[in-house]
Amino acid sequence: MQIFTNPAEMAAQCRQWHRDGDDIALVPTMGYYHAGHESLMDWGRQQAKRLVVSLFVNPTQFGPAEDLAAYPRDFERDSAIAASHGADALFAPAPEDMYAPDHATWVEAPALAAGLCGKSRPIHFRGVCTVVLKLLAITGADVAVFGQKDWQQQAIIRRMVRDLNLPVRIDARPTARAEDGLALSSRNVYMTESERAQAPHIRKGLLLARDMAAAGERDGEKLRQAVLAYWSGQMPLGKIDYLSMVHPESIEPLARIEDRALLACAVQLGKSRLIDNILLAE
Ligand code: AMP
Repeated sequence: MQIFTNPAEMAAQCRQWHRDGDDIALVPTMGYYHAGHESLMDWGRQQAKRLVVSLFVNPTQFGPAEDLAAYPRDFERDSAIAASHGADALFAPAPEDMYAPDHATWVEAPALAAGLCGKSRPIHFRGVCTVVLKLLAITGADVAVFGQKDWQQQAIIRRMVRDLNLPVRIDARPTARAEDGLALSSRNVYMTESERAQAPHIRKGLLLARDMAAAGERDGEKLRQAVLAYWSGQMPLGKIDYLSMVHPESIEPLARIEDRALLACAVQLGKSRLIDNILLAE
């Protein structure tokens, strides 16, 4: 596995691969790998001749009061994992390699970023779209792989790709979970033992809503209230940032389940902001 920090050198290698007739899969990450990242790499490995994993803690998607400085990092371990999952290249630029001091161009899809995580993280998806577009431009990837855990993110990226006619396919892969159901996240390491013990109730609450929907409940507010009641009993340490039912593609709020519906949440457990979601109707 080759390691690149310089965008021009990474781009030159990708152009060479394309000239050789090799297609390219890209897995964008912020590192501190867990089985979720590994499943994306394994998927990417199967989708194209060349696999590029990017490892970049993108400063522009963190708000001023967020955990950019504290975000967990372990380059040696991450590069060993990427290599063992068959990456041909690890692209690990420094922030100054990616952003000129006078960087002035931003990409955003405000209509999809108004709710869910975008509400409490107003500049987050602008940073995500901009860095993903840059990574796609650098690598010329034919397919890019994302996780369904960050559902809003993959919905926004799909829209950006469609709206800007980007020649790339977007694949979104299922959420990898701990045995107790907690969605794996690099941020899980911030939790204390007692917070970690309550965290699986996030998923259990969402499953409760799915069961209610399967039994015929269509009213979004009734589903929300049932989950919130469950959480307040089982997860007293959790502060609910949001719990919302939205359309899975447009991310527009839904009052009732008519067609497709996604229930998505963000819960603050101590220093960890944890997100998860579940499809109530597909
Ligand atoms: P991150 O490094 O957290 O920015 O995540 C990089 C990619 O991995 C994103 O596309 C995430 O959606 C995806 N991802 C994060 N956690 C999981 C998980 N538990 N299962 C599957 N994919 C995940």
